Amino acid sequence: MPEPELVARCHCGRATIRLPRKPDYVNHCNCSLCATTGWWGIYYASEELLIEGKFDEYVRSDLPPDERFLKVLRCANCGNPTHWVPLSEPPYERMGVNARLVDPALLEGVEVREIDGRSW
Ligand SMILES: [Zn+2]
Repeated sequence: MPEPELVARCHCGRATIRLPRKPDYVNHCNCSLCATTGWWGIYYASEELLIEGKFDEYVRSDLPPDERFLKVLRCANCGNPTHWVPLSEPPYERMGVNARLVDPALLEGVEVREIDGRSW
């Protein structure tokens, strides 16, 4: 049997991110942004990913400008948060993908890390 395709797909299916391999771990973070969007984080270099779709973006407006380091992208149609990238020019050594959009069966056995982002 061929390996199942590792892909993050938004609710409506218009946004997809193809992943090169299982992540080493999944971050479950309790910061205000992750908690309110239901975000689980997995990480790759931008060159490893094939990202397709139309996206809106959000930069945290509750932080002072010098503490804003990334923008979160979401499907322009269904609004699912799909990935985040640094506020610099690509390529990115490390960017985040929303593991919630990956079939949970494909992430079975991957280490879960509880991150106390709320306390930062
Ligand atoms: Zn969508």
